[in-house]
This record gives sequence, structure tokens and C-alpha cells, in this order.
Amino acid sequence: MPPDCLFCRIVSGELPSAQVYSDESIVAIRDISPQAPTHLLLIPRKHIASAREVGPEDKGLISDVCALAAELAMRHGVAEDGYRLVINVGRNGGQTVDHLHVHMLGGRPMAWPPG
Ligand code: 5GP
Ligand code: ZN
Repeated sequence: MPPDCLFCRIVSGELPSAQVYSDESIVAIRDISPQAPTHLLLIPRKHIASAREVGPEDKGLISDVCALAAELAMRHGVAEDGYRLVINVGRNGGQTVDHLHVHMLGGRPMAWPPG
């Protein structure tokens, strides 16, 4: 794990966060700067720099994240109206933290196309 990785430090508990879920492979926290009434970050514990670096050894991880998002959407009351899952990748994708994470946004209608 890179010692300066913000999300490695958050998932390890070294830095505090508003955690809503944790298991052996994924941690979910509230985004510090929410862009919707519900804005969670689903973060694999494993340090993967971005979706570009996901490999065959990570088989199952993305489907686990989607399944967890569905469960958390139920718990947070946004399942019925729907929500958006976002993975920003690289500079043009708007990625600011180089540790793979999936945004879960809900509680309001989402525009398309995204900005
Ligand atoms: P990205 O821009 O890489 O797709 O998403 C990074 C997200 O992490 C941003 O939405 C940003 O608000 C959030 N974030 C940055 N620093 C922290 C932090 O220290 N704690 C939490 N909970 N979220 C953070
Ligand atoms: Zn990391």
C-alpha cells in the first residue's frame, strides 16, 4: 500500500471517516463533499490505483461493489427511486483520489449527459 494514499489510510482506520459499511474486502463511507442527498463512496480495501488497473485477479470485485450498492441503496431509502454509480478514471474522467472507488449518488434526479 502506498503510504500516502488517502483511501488506504481511511479503509485501514488510520484516518477517520463516516463509515456506513465494512467487510473484509469493501468499506463504504459518506463523501466529505456530498453532491447529492445520499453520496457514498464504495472503496475496495485493496489498493488499486484506478479502474484502468483492475485485473483478472480482481474478478468479482466490481460485481461485489454493485451488489453492495444495491443493499446500501435499500438501507438509505434510494433503491426505489434509483441512484447513480460512477467511477471516475484518470484526469479527464475527473478522478482526484488514486485508489479505486465507486460513487453512489441518490436522493435527487441525475442529469444526463454528466458535466
Ligand atoms: P474522485 O474525484 O476521485 O472520483 O472522488 C474522490 C471523492 O473523495 C470526492 O468526491 C471527494 O469529495 C472525496 N473525498 C476526498 N477526500 C475525502 C476525505 O478525506 N473523506 C471523505 N469521506 N471523502 C473524501
Ligand atoms: Zn490506496
